[in-house]
This record gives sequence, structure tokens and C-alpha cells, in this order.
Amino acid sequence: MSDKTAIVVGASRGIGLGFAKHLVERGYKVIATERSRSDDLHAAADASDGAITIANCDVTDMASVKALGDRVEKGTLDLLVMNAGIMGERPQPLDALAHDNVADIVHTNATAPIQSALAILPQIKEGGTIAMLTSKMGSIDDSSGGANLYRVSKTAQNIFARSLFEEHAKDRSVGVLSLHPGWVQTDLGGPNALIDVDTSVSGMLDVIEGQSKAEHRFVAYDGSEIAW
Ligand code: NDP
Repeated sequence: MSDKTAIVVGASRGIGLGFAKHLVERGYKVIATERSRSDDLHAAADASDGAITIANCDVTDMASVKALGDRVEKGTLDLLVMNAGIMGERPQPLDALAHDNVADIVHTNATAPIQSALAILPQIKEGGTIAMLTSKMGSIDDSSGGANLYRVSKTAQNIFARSLFEEHAKDRSVGVLSLHPGWVQTDLGGPNALIDVDTSVSGMLDVIEGQSKAEHRFVAYDGSEIAW
């Protein structure tokens, strides 16, 4: 068993739950977060022989984020996975964008995860990694259309992630990865999505563990670089 440690924010279901399980298989101790009780996450923790511990955290509640960071010694964390995200009601056409919806989605998907990552950065060790779950739909090059609020929230997250790297993480040799998980069969991705959680998560962990220097990249689960 290695002595690596990770925090996964938003691990109650879907990709985040997959990260918690796969990280344990790869020898990590994991702090995995939920907002309300997730039976699936508790079952994974029960089966993990103590490798998964569960914390309560909502990325929009900085007190809960701070308490999460306080569970780890400064400079000891190998990996922070900021997975929490929402799609919001679709289809989000340009002519029906409402202030409240914009604020909710951009805060939950962009501002709050970046502020959370910044708050937890002191706990990350030199050479560690912040993995931000973004989406190819946040690439300006992507032409899939629709979901305008979701898309702009992920574009904003990518910009914030670059600033997080340049202004805060780089000096501490902490890398930032903006990860596209693929189109994944989850509550958010829906049943018609192309890949399952295991394929997505094991690919993203290969990308994370294969990162050899502190930089900021936009990469898909299969290792391909994505245009900003
Ligand atoms: P799910 O909807 O299945 O799960 C979302 C997770 O985020 C849940 O654990 C949820 O917790 C948590 N979450 C939502 N809001 C908050 C919050 N305010 N604070 C803390 N946790 C929160 O989504 P996926 O697993 O599919 O997606 C995970 C990430 O991957 C997201 O960032 C998403 O945008 C991204 N992504 C997914 C794709 C896909 O095809 N599935 C494609 C591209 C990107 P709770 O159970 O409490 O709601």
C-alpha cells in the first residue's frame, strides 16, 4: 500500500464516486465528500478497509471547504479532484438566459470549485496535482451547441484554472489539469453517453499519474489534448 493521499470533492455518485473507488485500487487513502448521505459512497467506504473516509462538503459553502482542508496536514496531499458540477435545466438557449440561472451554474461550476481549490492548495505537496473536472463543451472550438450556461461555466472554470496555476500553484510546483471525462453514463451524462464511469476514471487517473511536470493542460480521459 502506497502512502498517497487524495481528496475527491463531489463523490456521492457518478464520476466522483468512481474516482474514490479507483484511487483506493491504486493505493491511495481518500477523503471523499458528499452533501447528503450517499449509500453508494458509504458502501464503498465500508468495503475499503479504512482507505476511504467521508466528509461533508458543498463547494458553495466555504466553511465546509475550509473544514475539509483542515482534515489534511499542510504539504501532504498528493491529489485534489474537484469533481462537483451541475448541468442545470436544459436546453439553455441564448434567448432565455436568466440572471439567477447564470449565477447558480457559473458559481457552482467555476467560481466555487476554483475558490475551493485555492483554499486547499496549501495542503498539497510539491509535485502534487489539482484535477479540475471540466468539459470539452467548455472549449470555444467545440460546436456541439446548446447548454449555453453549462458551456460558459466550464469555459470560465478553464480560465480560472489557468490563473490558479499561473498565480498560485506554479510557484509551489503543483500542476493543474483541466480534465474532460468523455461523455459518461451518469445522472448528468444520461444513459446514451458513450463510455462508462470505469473507462473514464481509469483513463483520467492514467493522465494524472503520467503528468511529469507542473503545468496546466486541457486533456481528455484518453490522453488527447483539447483545444482551449
Ligand atoms: P453527476 O450529476 O452524476 O454527479 C455530480 C456530483 O457533483 C455529485 O456527487 C453531486 O453531489 C456533486 N455536486 C453537485 N453540486 C455540488 C456542490 N455544490 N458541492 C459539492 N458537490 C456537488 O455528474 P457526473 O459524475 O457526470 O459529472 C462529474 C463532473 O464531470 C462534473 O463536473 C461534470 O460537469 C463533468 N462532466 C461530466 C460529463 C458526463 O458526460 N457525465 C461530461 C463532461 C464533464 P450530490 O449527489 O449531492 O448532488
